[in-house]
Amino acid sequence: MINKLVSTGNALLTFPGRTAKRFPVQVTAVIAALILGTGGAAFAVAALGPDASELPVHQVLESVPTLPLNAATDLNIQSFDLFRSDVTRSSDTADTLLGRLGVDDAAAAAFIRSNALARQALLGRSGRNVTAETGDNNSLVKLSARWSPEDNGNFNRLVIEKTASGFQSRIEVAALSASTRLASGTIQNSLFGATDEARIPDSVATQLSEIFSGDIDFHRALRRGDRFSIVYETLEGDGEPLRAGRILSAEFVNNGKTFQAMWFQDPAAGTGSAPMSTGSRTADSRSKGGYYTLDGQSMRRAFLASPMEFSRITSGFGMRFHPILQTARAHQGVDYGAPIGTPVRSVGDAVVDFAGVQNGYGNIIILKHRNNYKTVYAHLSRINVRKGANVSQGQVIGAVGATGWATGPHLHFEYRINGVYRDPAAVSRQAESVPVAASSRSAFARLAAENRIALAAAASLQQSGAD
Ligand SMILES: [Zn+2]
Repeated sequence: MINKLVSTGNALLTFPGRTAKRFPVQVTAVIAALILGTGGAAFAVAALGPDASELPVHQVLESVPTLPLNAATDLNIQSFDLFRSDVTRSSDTADTLLGRLGVDDAAAAAFIRSNALARQALLGRSGRNVTAETGDNNSLVKLSARWSPEDNGNFNRLVIEKTASGFQSRIEVAALSASTRLASGTIQNSLFGATDEARIPDSVATQLSEIFSGDIDFHRALRRGDRFSIVYETLEGDGEPLRAGRILSAEFVNNGKTFQAMWFQDPAAGTGSAPMSTGSRTADSRSKGGYYTLDGQSMRRAFLASPMEFSRITSGFGMRFHPILQTARAHQGVDYGAPIGTPVRSVGDAVVDFAGVQNGYGNIIILKHRNNYKTVYAHLSRINVRKGANVSQGQVIGAVGATGWATGPHLHFEYRINGVYRDPAAVSRQAESVPVAASSRSAFARLAAENRIALAAAASLQQSGAD
């Protein structure tokens, strides 16, 4: 059972270049249904995905439902050799794309070059799933491509079909279907290295770091051997993952300490503010849910552990830059290596105490929080706020630079409590947790029990995978 789950996970999470052998989709859907029950998670869409900013639809001829899973499965397995799937690349020409799809058909290539719908949907774009059906001599019978340009629950499907009078194209619109995925990994060198290995989309990796951002400074505190397990939503079109959705629950073991979190939409919270959103612009501000520990405490803290959002860029940059700066003996603060221009965010709600230039600090912002807490952000290339302004936790206040006495682009960050420097990691861990409302506790407990099972299943993926 577990082995089957492993191979299923691997097959499922493969994005590019795979053939159209799809039956694992069904297996996993069944497993997920068993684990999560039916009423578990609400359908949720996050504004993620590789081409969220792509072109709008140019022409809509008809609306059709998503292919039923069984139909797609049977079709592809019976005529396995005739179907091939790949992903578009921005450098693609009609010939290179068809070539990867095993199509050898000059008329089809000419059609793609000359037909507006086909050209716009396929050429000069990266990351679109394309499936080709070929006939005799690798001629093209039918080609379809899927993408989800907007966060509206739908996806577009380009269909090119050979007819008696030559090739024809059309664009269809169909509904995305949500499925739940389990993933897990162990960190060897970086979080993104581990999520790449587990074929987890970047947007999900970023959500993971945001969910635990009150507990773990992902720029500085990660250790080799740290482990994570994630249960998250994927939005699919024709069985292909087109958008990453929200993390439903997650576990992170950092330096031997286990943290767990789950998404919960508190019915008692009404239209109040969310305890903690997914943290980034991708957060779904329309719903009032938030992340909680499985014991029912909000994951939100008075302070974030890091003044920069964790990303592939900051992660890679910091790894190289960090050791050089740590040699400064009397250094009171934490340095984050990052490219110039990387957004800097307030770690907590505050009033701007100072925004301007100070000798060695270069461009510097000092924020004043409650209880005589201050935070310092120095060497900035840009300052977005003015003295006296109110800023909220997570708000972008400036950008990384190399002003003042900086040996290279980095953010110098300090906590000062009553004027005395403090270790940021220790400060951010001081939790100000908000519990789930009493009236929601039974609903919360039910969902938490489901999430415990799902997380255990996700963790078992990896353990058996390591054998
Ligand atoms: Zn410094």
